[in-house]
Amino acid sequence: MSVLAISTDKLSPKLLELFASQVPGVEFRLWPDVGDPHKIEYALAWKPPPGELAKLPKLKAILSFAAGVDHLASDPQLPKHIPVVRAVSEASRLTMSGFCVAQVLRYQHRLNLYEQFQRQNLWKQLPPRDMTETRVGVLGMGVLGADLAMRLQALGFAVNGWSRSKRAFDGVTMFHGADGLLPCMAASNVVVCLLPLTDETRGILNAQAFAAMPKDGYVINVARGGHVVAADLVAAIDSGHLEGATLDVFEPEPLPPESPLWRHPKIVVTPHTSGRMTNQRVALNLIEMLREVLSGKKLANVVDWDKGY
Ligand code: NAP
Repeated sequence: MSVLAISTDKLSPKLLELFASQVPGVEFRLWPDVGDPHKIEYALAWKPPPGELAKLPKLKAILSFAAGVDHLASDPQLPKHIPVVRAVSEASRLTMSGFCVAQVLRYQHRLNLYEQFQRQNLWKQLPPRDMTETRVGVLGMGVLGADLAMRLQALGFAVNGWSRSKRAFDGVTMFHGADGLLPCMAASNVVVCLLPLTDETRGILNAQAFAAMPKDGYVINVARGGHVVAADLVAAIDSGHLEGATLDVFEPEPLPPESPLWRHPKIVVTPHTSGRMTNQRVALNLIEMLREVLSGKKLANVVDWDKGY
């Protein structure tokens, strides 16, 4: 039995050494050195070249390097009958929630405005924002969104959540389904997008959604670039309706140097770093996932392709 690490990005052979040292008795291979494809039972995948996973006839499970699986869904030949396990761990939840909390606190303490004032040598105090009056809407109340909601509540923020199905979380005002989006936006001063990118969620943060938000609202997108209609966001900020945005994800990536988003004074641009962990941490997480798969336990965080995430 062999395990194949597969990616269009160059993976370090050191990764294989680490895998082999942690999971003895298993042969690890690094794509394109597949060896006998009949021996590969598990694939550790990050943006695999389209069609390559379909060439592995004995594949039993695909373990994604990432929580998002759009990098797999875009492969038209992906063998969808084989379970895909998403990478979500305590460390990834903490990393993502930490980034989002930092952005929400930056807004709540008006640091976004004070940073602008400093550039103008301007000593100007603004009325403080009360935490309980700063409602944060979390779009996508899955593994990551639910974790963020819990941490925001612990800090004293009022939290709204939006999910596809009807769900309940202690202390969170929940909205669900397509009809629930605009009411959730309308009830949220800050909106954090933690949705998977699917046909249903592409372009969901658009002019209509921004118009529904209260004046001086703030948008944080840490999910995928395709959720946001960038021109609509810039228009909503430039009109004075929204106060600004933090964008960590873009379409395309890397964000091209000529994009006006780079230079917008009210938009924070980060290079897809909100959930970024060390290579060592990512590898150890994959090892943990592989051990669980090999132990025969019921798999957690398996993608449901009917829902698209
Ligand atoms: P998850 O556990 O699958 O949760 C997804 C949530 O989104 C669920 O609450 C789901 O509703 C909701 N949802 C899906 N489609 C919807 C729709 N059409 N309308 C309303 N709600 C919808 O996912 P996760 O692990 O939290 O991760 C979320 C996303 O974060 C990933 O897909 C990935 O793209 C992104 N991400 C980004 C980074 C980064 O570095 N920037 C890192 C990690 C993850 P239900 O609860 O009803 O199913």
